[in-house]
Amino acid sequence: MTNEELWQIVLGEIELSISKASYITWFKNTNVLSNKDGQIVISVPNAFTKEWLENKYSKIIQKALRNISKDIKETSYVINYKKEAESAKKKKKKKVPSKLEVSILDEQLDFNQITVDKKTNLNPRYSLDNFVVASFNELAHAAAQSVIKSPGRTYNPFFIYGGVGIGKTHLLQAIGNKIAKENSSKKIIYVSSEKFTDDVISAIAKGEMDKLKNYYRKIDVLIIDDIQFLAGKEKTQEEFFHTFNTLYENNKQIILSSDRPPKAIPTLEERLRSRFEGVMIADIGHPDLETRIVILKTKIKDLNLELPDEILNYIASNVQTNIRELEGALNRILAFVKLNNSIPAQNQVVKILKNIISNPQKRTTHKNIIKIVAEFYDIDPKDLTDRSRKKELVKPRQVAMYLLRWELKSSYPFIGAKLGGRDHTTAIYACEKITKEKENNDSFEEELNLIRQRLYNYTS
Ligand code: ADP
Ligand code: MG
Repeated sequence: MTNEELWQIVLGEIELSISKASYITWFKNTNVLSNKDGQIVISVPNAFTKEWLENKYSKIIQKALRNISKDIKETSYVINYKKEAESAKKKKKKKVPSKLEVSILDEQLDFNQITVDKKTNLNPRYSLDNFVVASFNELAHAAAQSVIKSPGRTYNPFFIYGGVGIGKTHLLQAIGNKIAKENSSKKIIYVSSEKFTDDVISAIAKGEMDKLKNYYRKIDVLIIDDIQFLAGKEKTQEEFFHTFNTLYENNKQIILSSDRPPKAIPTLEERLRSRFEGVMIADIGHPDLETRIVILKTKIKDLNLELPDEILNYIASNVQTNIRELEGALNRILAFVKLNNSIPAQNQVVKILKNIISNPQKRTTHKNIIKIVAEFYDIDPKDLTDRSRKKELVKPRQVAMYLLRWELKSSYPFIGAKLGGRDHTTAIYACEKITKEKENNDSFEEELNLIRQRLYNYTS
């Protein structure tokens, strides 16, 4: 083991036993300078840190060192000014982006920020090619396909509803974009309800209602997003009602979205509400963990980037609210990658996403991991925790060790103790082995993902 490896393990142990703030303050930029005859010299960046480590942390440092090697007897600390200068340079590079930087990068990384088409008001970034379909949205997607195939005929009007950030606007615009591509002669307009309302109000104010009527009633495909905002706006609803009827009678396609089904929109005029009865209403639900992972993978593939599965799993299992937040979390990680030119370590990932994930879920326990791994490999959990040296238990035990480390940040001695009363070196070896295997073997990686999915769907 090199000095660096030794120190990384020690730091790993210490990080788990003290507060994050203390860890960062006192252990950043420390290293093992030499290790000879049981004497370890640790280099520290300044006198203050030296004093602090000697007085306050020497015990836990000693303990962590002895966990690794019984031969270590004495620890001393020296100030390494050169190292300090180097790490100051490094530090400059390896920083977590500030809020401002993140928001700038959020924009830069926004998927193909292309301007909106002036004629149709459609944003070409929304397409069906980058719309992930799974059980939560397959009905809406299938209906969308029919609408694209024969606009104005099969599902008219087509009404999509669902919660915030789960893809209503994306699907609506993707339909518009696709029809526009296939039928360049068709007049397609996408408007938000706010824009529609503004148009009505300003037409009334200018006395140009006829012009407005002409405009909206000559459309082949009219897409209005978020019609729940029409609630209570009588004049707008009236205009919408007439527009709706004209288009409908002329077999023009109408596509609408709302955050709830039409029946549940308060103060939607009765005649409008009854208009929606019996039409094609498709809801979009919430993507499950597996789908959230697929969505993240699709997004990074679109950007020609790669991130380790651990990070994607962390995001997907912690950001459950909606797809917009999922993208937000991913953008922050990508911002870090861009700024630092390196993939963040797990503790950095947690830090970067702290604002988004206010309460990282206590998602699982070591017992669950053992249980799920045992179930997966069809063995008795006891076999994993006992000392048994049966050959067929080697791999499941290593997988369990790896998951304990990655999912729970368990310390190596803890992992060793829980899985067969092994020592920490066995745990370290297991984690390294699995990491390597995973990198070299796609089907094994898939296997690990399946276990993880079971882990997070596990709720007792
Ligand atoms: P809503 O209109 O329901 O509030 P959006 O359509 O604005 O949600 O979606 C939020 C974000 O999530 C958008 O950036 C969108 O591209 C993305 N998104 C939504 N659904 C999907 C999906 N099925 N596949 C890929 N990305 C999606
Ligand atoms: Mg929307």
